[in-house]
Amino acid sequence: MKLLSQNRLASSPQLSRRDALRLFGLAGSAAFFTPQLLRATESVAAQPAVPSLVGAQPGFYRFRIGSLEALALNDGGFAPALAECPFGVGEPREKVAAALDDAFLATDKTQIPFNVLLVRMGAELIMIDTGCGTLFGPVGGRLVANLAAAGIKPEQITGIIISHMHADHFGGLLDATTKEPVFKNAKLFINRKEHAFWTGATPDLSAQPLPEETRKSFIAGAQACLEGLKGRWQLIAPGEKLLEGLEIIDAPGHTPGHIALLFSSGSEQLLHFVDAAHNHAISFAHPEWTLAFDTQPPIAIATRKKLLDRAAADRLRVFGGHMPFPSLGHVRAISNHYEYIIEPAAIA
Ligand SMILES: [Zn+2]
Repeated sequence: MKLLSQNRLASSPQLSRRDALRLFGLAGSAAFFTPQLLRATESVAAQPAVPSLVGAQPGFYRFRIGSLEALALNDGGFAPALAECPFGVGEPREKVAAALDDAFLATDKTQIPFNVLLVRMGAELIMIDTGCGTLFGPVGGRLVANLAAAGIKPEQITGIIISHMHADHFGGLLDATTKEPVFKNAKLFINRKEHAFWTGATPDLSAQPLPEETRKSFIAGAQACLEGLKGRWQLIAPGEKLLEGLEIIDAPGHTPGHIALLFSSGSEQLLHFVDAAHNHAISFAHPEWTLAFDTQPPIAIATRKKLLDRAAADRLRVFGGHMPFPSLGHVRAISNHYEYIIEPAAIA
């Protein structure tokens, strides 16, 4: 700031260089204010343009869970206006705005990032969900580019666990144009209960507080993806150990077969609660509020409280599908609600 002010003053037609130096108490201090620097400030207009700082945010973050190597990946995100945001169904918007304001966030909109977790477990590269692909337009679909930025090709992913069949989690599985699998060598895993729900004759979304047309599009999208990858799905169940150090946890409500995942290595653990909570301010300040995308609202609320209680009691490090990137944090329990504590980025 100081140098910028000096530049302005030195090039101002109203102030001579001597005046400018006097103003800063630098007149006569040539040893400090070198002739070269003076010439540079006088010819500021001839210098190359200052580069713009606008552009995409970096979208991958490396960390470890004990001896496991992990990567948080961003697939994009969107920021619905307060009036259209899916949080606190039935609650006055002023209460939602107050929860945002309490967390020092803008109150005219909410932020919903899409995050994916990749963990290297021995010879396996296991990814949890795949982002939106092209299903949500330009707000999503950055996963493959962010994998590439981290030096990973889609064909190197050996296993994908789809936490639940919502488009922001399965959308990246199929190429929208060719309908071919994006992750050609990955085994695909899904909770047996989730698979059965969406492939059943009439998936029941009647309790989900969304317009009928939207509910129909949820069903059509999930069924198209499951059908498009028919024969590749391997059905799993909560309680099963897919790999040493990876536990599948039953977390129903957001969808009937929604799962959370617990990674363990040595004394360290990471609980990926996926979509049991959606906003680091609102979902924690008001865990009793319904989210518009919850298929079974009362069950979703019970699951949210159960997982957050566990995370707080066990001081678990957590990851979420929609927490602020890189989506790592901890949970504090406070009487009838919670607080999400963002983990600072590591230095190395
Ligand atoms: Zn989601």
